Amino acid sequence: MKETKIASLTKALDKAASIDEKRLAHEIRAIGFACRNCAQCCRAEYGDNTVFIFPFEIRRICEKTGLVREDFVIPAPSEDRDSEGNIHTFEWVLRKNGDCIFLKKGLCRIYECRPYICKTYPFYLMDGRLMASECMGLGGAINYEESMKLARLLKERCIAEIKESILLLEKFNGFKPGGKGNICVHDSDGEHWI
Ligand code: SF4
Repeated sequence: MKETKIASLTKALDKAASIDEKRLAHEIRAIGFACRNCAQCCRAEYGDNTVFIFPFEIRRICEKTGLVREDFVIPAPSEDRDSEGNIHTFEWVLRKNGDCIFLKKGLCRIYECRPYICKTYPFYLMDGRLMASECMGLGGAINYEESMKLARLLKERCIAEIKESILLLEKFNGFKPGGKGNICVHDSDGEHWI
């Protein structure tokens, strides 16, 4: 079962590696996008501002800011429980204080090392297809260089997601109780009991 999933993810990785950035950039230009710096995607009042974050992105933010993981991420909500009732989840999300905790006076305090999901907003790829979330900047003018930059980031994000999933699966050994805590995050680094 695990091997089958890893094999299928490996195929998806090959497919992601062959994503044509120029085609993607062309599609981005056809939709149009110009960030208005409104920070609505970071704020609570405009909808779901949950930011999922990879372990390597967490490490990068720790290095750049001196913060520790617990300062700025929490386990993603999950309904999965083991036989002792401990919760198991597979993702981390940025802490929120309503708005994202890194949003200060309308600006991102970690702009240079913000997660992929923020760097590529409002776009994402689903099965290789370009999708766009709701955003006031959609339809705006975007030049060739900016569209290529976004296309490259989207491809990188897609590859990173698949690689993380493969590493996670390789390390995952089921929902075993007995850890020090009652929430367990399974990620590409292994198990983290909180
Ligand atoms: S990390 Fe920065 S860009 Fe991402 S939601 Fe938070 S404030 Fe916004």
